[in-house]
Amino acid sequence: MKNAEPYFYVGSKEIAERVDKQYEGHKITQISDIQQWIENDHQTIENESLIATFIINLQEELVISDRHSEHVMCAGGRNVLAAGEITFSFEKETIFVSEISNQSTGYCPKPASWEIVEFVLDQLEIEHPEYFTIAYEFRYCEHCKTTNLIKEAIYECAVCGADLPAEWNFDKRK
Ligand SMILES: [Zn+2]
Repeated sequence: MKNAEPYFYVGSKEIAERVDKQYEGHKITQISDIQQWIENDHQTIENESLIATFIINLQEELVISDRHSEHVMCAGGRNVLAAGEITFSFEKETIFVSEISNQSTGYCPKPASWEIVEFVLDQLEIEHPEYFTIAYEFRYCEHCKTTNLIKEAIYECAVCGADLPAEWNFDKRK
C-alpha cells in the first residue's frame, strides 16, 4: 500500500531467544479463517467475543495467535507493520472487530500504525471500529533503557523519572 513503517522487535532478549522462527501465528486472508483458527486452536468464545494477539506482517496480512502469546512469536521473530490486541465479536452468523489496540510492548508501534491496520481490515471486508479503541504511546528511556507506556500524557520515565521525548524514539534503542 502506502509505505507503512516497519517496526523491529524491542522487547526482552530472553523472549527473542525463545522465538521459533518456523512458527507464525494464523494468517487471516478471509473472514472464515478466523472461525477455522478458533476450531484448530481450541479457542473459547466467551460472552460472544474473543481476544487475540495480532500483528500485521510485512506482506500486509493479518496474523493472529492466542491472546497470551507474545507478538514476536506471532510474527516468527520478524519485523511487523503493526501489532496489538484484537477483539472479535460474534453476532448470529457474523464476525466483526469490536475492539482493537496497539498494545505491544514487544514492538511499541505508534498509534499511526492504525493506517495499515485499517487498510488490512478493509481488505478482509470485516466490520471494525473507526480507530484503535485504545491507542497507546510508547517511549524509550535512554537514561535507564526501559520501555514506558505513557499514561495521562505524562512524558516522564516511570522507572528513573527522566524526561521522555514528545516523539516516538525506539529507533534510539538499536
Ligand atoms: Zn528511565
